[in-house]
This record gives sequence, structure tokens and C-alpha cells, in this order.
Amino acid sequence: MNNLLVANSVSKNFGDFKALNNVSIEVPKGSIFGLLGPNGAGKTTLIRIINQITMPDTGNVFLDGEPLKAHHIQDIGYLPEERGLYKSMKVGEQVLYLAQLKGLSKAEAKKRLKFWFEKLEIGDWWDKKIQELSKGMAQKIQFVVTVLHQPKLLIFDEPFSGFDPINANLIKDQILQLREDGATVIFATHRMESVEELCDHIALIHKSNKILDGKLQDIKRQYKTNTFEVGLVASNETQLTQIINEKFETAPANFKSLNNDLKLNIKLKPSESSNNLLSFLTSIAQVNHFNELIPSANDIFIQTVENSKS
Ligand code: ADP
Ligand code: MG
Repeated sequence: MNNLLVANSVSKNFGDFKALNNVSIEVPKGSIFGLLGPNGAGKTTLIRIINQITMPDTGNVFLDGEPLKAHHIQDIGYLPEERGLYKSMKVGEQVLYLAQLKGLSKAEAKKRLKFWFEKLEIGDWWDKKIQELSKGMAQKIQFVVTVLHQPKLLIFDEPFSGFDPINANLIKDQILQLREDGATVIFATHRMESVEELCDHIALIHKSNKILDGKLQDIKRQYKTNTFEVGLVASNETQLTQIINEKFETAPANFKSLNNDLKLNIKLKPSESSNNLLSFLTSIAQVNHFNELIPSANDIFIQTVENSKS
């Protein structure tokens, strides 16, 4: 069994509104799976179904090959989109309480909490009340509570919203480490910054339908256009451009460089090789920059969502 979680043809209506339409996902063990899509796509609804907070109208969800049952809640750590902690309780009291709800003994909970509080640099918050903390600080506490019982599946709904770039990075590194340690991670987001560094698999949901899924690398391969970004030094740029245009399809390129180069995007035909392009270019100019354009997760997101509108 290579998939830790499988959702098969899940549909969910709220009154007349279809929030999920026949959505299936397969989350491989040990992967970081990005559930992507614009606001209102249906990501949180699917996550709530996986957490058995909402029941699907049709379809099934399997965890480690078994149909979802109540006891599976123990195997999942869930950071909801709507975060909630008891405002007037002290941080230490609260996290100990929540950890014990998840089945840890007080001594074990204390040990693990100490580890995490040091790691996230929040040790001196232990005696503070939640209401004294900023949104980002409270979110760090909830992150700790989510991962503390070392569940095999971690689900983070919009984990980076509310964090400054430094803390977002800190959490990103922890998510990568949790995967190293054997966890499988699903995270939902409508923002693409974190996707490149984290996800190996993605599913894109738009207006209740899954419109794209697979390994991020494979998807990028499908979307790439065989275009190379080049920076060239030449005494006569007009002439150089002409020579290249006779052989290749080009467009002006826009990338940052320290050199005052001629910058071009050169699109190859499927039959042409990048090596041939490079040796051609080196024979006519000094090549300072040669880089294949790989579509970003952000490009793919926008392009796929726009195309599905028609
Ligand atoms: P996402 O997380 O992708 O932003 P959601 O899954 O939260 O989207 O919501 C998808 C759609 O379903 C939205 O239009 C939302 O208003 C609707 N929806 C979600 N939960 C409920 C509910 N309990 N009752 C009615 N509509 C809901
Ligand atoms: Mg959501």
C-alpha cells in the first residue's frame, strides 16, 4: 500500500450548492501533498471530510487501506483554518491539557513540549495567557499541539497565513523535518509561495472540481515549453538578433542580471536540442546566461484555473 490516504469520488452539497464534485485524491506515504485552489474551491471542505467533521454525500475515504473510522482521528494531526485556543488560559496549562486529550501522559507531554518550545523559540511564553499573544504566536502554539502526538498524517489548512516571512520559513523547515521523520503531510493553500519548496505532489481544486493533479515534477514537465532564457554579449546586438531569428523563434526576455546583455527567450522545436542551441550561441557570442524556463507552481495554478473558466 503506497498511499496513506485515498479519497474516492467525494461529493458534498450544502443545500443547493455543490462544494465538492466527485473529487478523488491519492496521497502517497511520506509525501508532502499540496491541496491547492482559489478561495472557495472546496479545500477546507475536503479536509473536514478527511477529519470526519463533515460527512460526504457520496464517495469514500481510506486511511492506510481502511475505510475511515472514528479511531483514525488518533492517526491524524489537524491544524484547522479557523484556529481556536482558550483565550484566558495560560499557554503551558493549555498545551498540556490538549496534549493529554491526545493520549499523552503528563510527563511525556511535558518532555515533548519542552523540545518543541525550544525548537520554535517560544520557551518564555509558557506562563503567558493566549490573549497576550499575537496571531502568529498563537499559531505557533497550535502548530506544536498539532504535531505533538506524532501522528502519521498531518493536515495543515493554510498553515502560513498569519506568519511573517521568518516564522513562515521556520514552520516550512519543521514541515520538511516532519516528513524526514516519517510523517505524511497534506497542506491546503491558496498561496503558492511555499508550494515549490514543500510539495512533491499536488491537486488543484477549482470551483468544487479537481482540475489537475500529480507529481509536481511531472506536471512541470507537461507545462514546460522548451524555452531557454539567454544572456549574450555582442558588439552589434541588432545583427546578432537577426542571425538568431533566422534559426529560432525568439522573444525579448526579462530577467535580472548584472551584465548589460542582450536578453532573449529562445523557444526550441521538439526536435531541437538545448546542446545544439548552446553551441550555436557560443559560436556567435559570449554566453553569460543560459537557463531553461521551468513553469512555476504559480504559473501552472493561474494558467490551469484561467483555462478551466471557458
Ligand atoms: P476553500 O477552503 O477552498 O477556500 P471551502 O471548502 O471552505 O473552500 O468552501 C467551499 C465552498 O463551500 C464555499 O463557497 C463555502 O462558502 C461553501 N461552504 C463551506 N462550508 C459550508 C457550510 N457549512 N455551509 C454552507 N456552505 C459552506
Ligand atoms: Mg479553506
